[in-house]
Amino acid sequence: MERTLSIVKPDGIRKHILGEVIRRFQEAGIRIAAIKMIHLSKAEAEGFYAVHRERPFFDSLTDFMSSGSCVVMVLEGDEVIRRNRELMGATNPAEAAPGTIRKDFATNIEQNAVHGSDAPETAAFEISYFFNALEIH
Ligand code: GDP
Repeated sequence: MERTLSIVKPDGIRKHILGEVIRRFQEAGIRIAAIKMIHLSKAEAEGFYAVHRERPFFDSLTDFMSSGSCVVMVLEGDEVIRRNRELMGATNPAEAAPGTIRKDFATNIEQNAVHGSDAPETAAFEISYFFNALEIH
């Protein structure tokens, strides 16, 4: 059994796709072990995306991530890191497979509706960034 962090990003919340994203997770048999709505400060968004701080889009990305509310979730299931990434689709919606969340709902490569951890180590860091042990059920 594996855990991963999912975020419905501010563009996804503004487009009212939270329910549809949760529906897709549950249809895929993925369990939601924790969930909350947050509004990241610029500094909190910078901390979350610290691995990208040298990238040219870092300032724009962290402005976007702090531009509105997000919903953060801990997902649980067999191979859930890979399976969530499959449901999400490629980072750039122009390259995302049909039927994926990003193909269906992303605006562009930055405002791409959802986040999902990409490996067990990043999942552990990202889950602990938002949730303590008592909040994960
Ligand atoms: P992910 O794992 O698919 O989310 O992709 P990355 O870890 O490579 O990038 C993190 C986030 O940065 C993406 O989800 C996008 O929101 C944003 N991003 C990635 N590449 C670009 C880019 O080339 N330009 C801009 N503006 N944003 C990007």
